Amino acid sequence: MLVSTSLPVPLYKTFDYKVPTGIQLPKIGCRVQVPFGRQTLVGLVIAYTNVEDCQIPDNKLKTITTIIDKTPIVDEKWLKLASWLSNYYHYPLGDVIGVMLPTLIREGKPIHVASPHWRILPEILSSQTKNNTAPPQISARAYKQIEHYKSLCVFGENGIDETQLNKHNLTKAYLQKLADKQIAERFLQTPAEPKQAKIIESPLSLNDEQSLAVTTIVKAQNKTSYQGFLLNGVTGSGKTEVYLQAMQPVLKNNQQVLILVPEIGLTPQTQARFANRFEANILLLHSGLNNRERLAGWQHCRDGQAQIIIGTRSTLLYPFKNLGLIIVDEAHDASYKQQDTLRYHAADVALYRGLQQNIPVILGTATPSLEHIKLVQDGKLTELALSKRAGAAKPPEFYLVNACNKNTTYIQQANGQAVDSGLTNEVVNAMRKHLQAGEQVLVFINRRGYAPILLCHACGWQADCPRCDNHLTVHQSQLNTQQPSYLKCHHCDWQSYIPTSCPTCGSHNLDAIGMGTTRLTENLHALFANPQTTKQTYPIIQIDRDTTRQKGSWQKIYQTINTGEPAILVGTQMIAKGHHFPNVTLVVMPTADRGFLSADFRSPERTAQLIMQVAGRAGRGEKTGKVLIQTLQPDNPLLLELVKNGYQPFAQTLLNERQMLGLPPFAFAGVIRCEAKNHQQTIAVLNEAKSLLPAHHQLTVLGPVDAAMKKKNNRYQSQLLLLSKNRQQLHTVLNTWWLTVKNLPTAKYVRLTLDIDPVVW
Ligand code: ADP
Ligand code: ZN
Ligand code: ZN
Repeated sequence: MLVSTSLPVPLYKTFDYKVPTGIQLPKIGCRVQVPFGRQTLVGLVIAYTNVEDCQIPDNKLKTITTIIDKTPIVDEKWLKLASWLSNYYHYPLGDVIGVMLPTLIREGKPIHVASPHWRILPEILSSQTKNNTAPPQISARAYKQIEHYKSLCVFGENGIDETQLNKHNLTKAYLQKLADKQIAERFLQTPAEPKQAKIIESPLSLNDEQSLAVTTIVKAQNKTSYQGFLLNGVTGSGKTEVYLQAMQPVLKNNQQVLILVPEIGLTPQTQARFANRFEANILLLHSGLNNRERLAGWQHCRDGQAQIIIGTRSTLLYPFKNLGLIIVDEAHDASYKQQDTLRYHAADVALYRGLQQNIPVILGTATPSLEHIKLVQDGKLTELALSKRAGAAKPPEFYLVNACNKNTTYIQQANGQAVDSGLTNEVVNAMRKHLQAGEQVLVFINRRGYAPILLCHACGWQADCPRCDNHLTVHQSQLNTQQPSYLKCHHCDWQSYIPTSCPTCGSHNLDAIGMGTTRLTENLHALFANPQTTKQTYPIIQIDRDTTRQKGSWQKIYQTINTGEPAILVGTQMIAKGHHFPNVTLVVMPTADRGFLSADFRSPERTAQLIMQVAGRAGRGEKTGKVLIQTLQPDNPLLLELVKNGYQPFAQTLLNERQMLGLPPFAFAGVIRCEAKNHQQTIAVLNEAKSLLPAHHQLTVLGPVDAAMKKKNNRYQSQLLLLSKNRQQLHTVLNTWWLTVKNLPTAKYVRLTLDIDPVVW
């Protein structure tokens, strides 16, 4: 017998190896080290092959170097998931597995079921004096050692997991010193079976719609069969309470619950709501973890230590001991689609996993994607509607505000100039009224930085990125400095100083055009926080990627908002996602309707989702919320429909349009992107690929054309779009054609990628 292994190489096949004589065959799901060319690679055994069935002559066959694992690190279901992903996304199995495994596992690091812990030696702990003085072996001046001694005492006999040392300001070096003095020890702890999760906060009494949702989901759980749900609940309808109560029987049954959240939703608030309800092992998995923490998390999912797992997209690819329920919160969110390597969509993969494991899957959102609405209409998802806000909260009231020039509020500057604040008088007055009533106001602007464009008024020159087809954004290094201070490309991070004169005509008449979060914050300061011009000033909190980059900054912002004191929150879409700030009663959107003007056919859907999500932050407490949307097109039919009738009828209008045009979700798409230093080359390769499509393929083929951003980071990108009314038809063509294209001699000089179910083209 030979073992077939998957290796981390971009080839669409598996690799057979011999096993040294006298050594037992490694089990399927174990890692092995194998020679590959001049390298040694870590592979995963995925099958056995008979020597006779192997294409490679015996003298060419190589032998496994080492068998890393005695027992499989993943089970068959996980391997089946890997091969499904590989087939569906047409991505090499070895690379799929590479994406699915944490780095340290990929590198062949051993898996310890027992994990290293540190503790004070039990005999020292038990003889420890009441006043907690350190033992005499530690000199009175070794402050650090004394500190470590005292901290470690707190963890008692069970000690502390080595991966948690940092969190408690403990360093291995000092602990080792204690160990050398026979005070502490490092030992291996096999994790005990977790205790059954306990409810520690009484569940809310549900309203009728919530109650129906919970019973329907629980019924599906009892049948131990797959069922996909779209929990379609308006903002503030209490979706989380439905999750919490649907989780209850699963946890009672000693099964695990996986909750997927968009990257930015992973805030202390999310975690707190689960931790307040259940005493359980709650595991948080987000992009901020280091490799060791990630490995530990992976193992806790696999071994069943983690009972409630709250994670971002990639957590869905982990192995689980006994998963009982998957929840995808804010299922419409764009961050669920991976945009490089294995381009999977977490909501789709969640449904597959549910089917595979015979468990229910809940997709929860207030603004379902058109894809998910269509799945409901096709009978593939069961819709659970929550049409009203929970408790006493009322739906927010929408108002359109005409943003034409004559309504604008100007800010008088020290030099006598009046500057357009970007806000209308009506908006500014409403803000003042709400603040004076002791309430919070949220202003949404989907652009960070100071201004999106630097323009020369004399000749029309604009500061563009030399590497991308993109304007450079004007940034200020600090708030409140008068001069904008540098230019930055949001696509490739290229930066430069702001020229003092126009590089084309020499004019000094350069101006920052448009508005980002920093500029809006500055304007709001002038209007609401300048003690020289206003009696009452209010704090202004800017929330975007630039102000939340630092660790712990989100937490601080949360604390400030949660005091409920009147304040203005200014932010990008980061503030749109799922947050619950009960004292926000007014939401202002100065430019949000711009998306209705975009040429991208998906833009109206995204814009509407964003508007409804941002609006959903208003009036979640006792007081009714108001939403003011500034617009230059107060009679734009799309905007009017959304504001008057709400998201559902709006989405149906869009769906009808998509059906007429034969666009997704009424067609299935694959985009082939080609990237190279030379633009012509990208088009040539795609044309060659197109010519190789099988005769009578029955697909709609569009392109090759330039990508929406033709040049990015000094490389050109073109694309070829394949559309089909029938999913199977598309995949049948791709199954043979894509491999042929990848193997084209000309393909060696470009980067070719395939994106199934793309969300941008
Ligand atoms: P969503 O996620 O649907 O936007 P949340 O789950 O954040 O809404 O719930 C909004 C608020 O309503 C929360 O403060 C929550 O505690 C409260 N809530 C949820 N369900 C109920 C209920 N049945 N009765 C009273 N309040 C509820
Ligand atoms: Zn100029
Ligand atoms: Zn750039």
